[in-house]
Amino acid sequence: DSVGFAMVGLGGYALNQMMPRFAQAERAHVAAIVSGNPDKLREVGDAYGLPADARYSYEDFARIGADRRVDAVYVVLPSGLHAEWTVRAFAAGKHVLCEKPMALSSAECARMIAAGRRARRKLMIAYRSHFEPHNMAAMELMARDAVGRLRLIRTEQSYRMGPTSPSANWRVNRALAGGGPLEDLGIYGLQAALYLSREMPESISATTFRPEGDPRFAEIFAHVSSQWRFPSGAVAQLATSYDSAGANFVHARGTTGALIMDPATNYSGQRLVLEGPERRELEPGDPEVQFARQLDHFADAIRDGAPVRTPGEMGLRDLRLIEAIYASAAAGRTVGLNPDGTMRR
Ligand code: NAD
Repeated sequence: DSVGFAMVGLGGYALNQMMPRFAQAERAHVAAIVSGNPDKLREVGDAYGLPADARYSYEDFARIGADRRVDAVYVVLPSGLHAEWTVRAFAAGKHVLCEKPMALSSAECARMIAAGRRARRKLMIAYRSHFEPHNMAAMELMARDAVGRLRLIRTEQSYRMGPTSPSANWRVNRALAGGGPLEDLGIYGLQAALYLSREMPESISATTFRPEGDPRFAEIFAHVSSQWRFPSGAVAQLATSYDSAGANFVHARGTTGALIMDPATNYSGQRLVLEGPERRELEPGDPEVQFARQLDHFADAIRDGAPVRTPGEMGLRDLRLIEAIYASAAAGRTVGLNPDGTMRR
């Protein structure tokens, strides 16, 4: 039996990436859609053959609690709305798959986790790289010390955004996007630094940049970069930007070799090279399976009680690190961290 998902938010990622991927999932299907736009509800509902009573407006959402066709809600709204709609979905008794970033603060993440516990429902963050063959192969290679002892991780996720403003585009609006590129793109590098090192940083030192008079950056940062020190002595250097030429790479360099992922976390086209004495390019599989595998994984967790690989606790950990990055940049000093990612006083 397949798990029924209600899609909340019918924007670019939901319509162009995720909804078409349900066809490749074995145990997940779209059971309902939720949108504020009646035309979209009609067009998308017709395209996916959804009955009229499986098309919900936001005002109607509470009614979804009684809809037996819907097991889980997939929140694909602007990031500043993730917490509110996750809590609403739990209140309706549904499981929740929530897009990254989980929310815009660790306090919101804690509220989401608590709501899931109260409702006795599962929460998963849609960190698709955990289901992508190249990133999974990189995790395995690092776990068996294929580059020797880790010394340096470098990541960059950047692109140059066209002219826009906070009223026209939620991605440059602080209430909906937080600080901007770090929550949106840099979070892939932050995640990779953690799953490749298998450590938490003990300190972070960061810097942000916001050009004056550019409406794109009236509310958010243009660049965010940080340097992390791990207990092993390894260092991670992360950069992310909405104002530099496109980049998406992850490098992990150790005492005997290096792992190069470039591009590292795209929808497709990943490359993974192991440098050093055993230099070779690895081709662990089609990156595009990441979308359907993520859906099937959550379906397994719901149906069989299997543990969620990317739970709310992981999203919370990441928001703590994001808060530490901004705190360091704002204070202009290195911030010490506890093992759970909270800042040391
Ligand atoms: P988008 O702008 O294309 O779509 C956002 C949708 O939310 C639109 O349909 C919009 O109408 C709707 N919406 C509802 N309330 C809104 C409000 N108050 N303000 C603005 N829009 C509102 O964005 P997207 O690219 O689809 O991103 C949605 C979420 O998915 C974000 O959290 C983003 O981080 C995430 N995302 C994840 C990936 C990934 O690879 N995992 C890729 C892209 C986006």
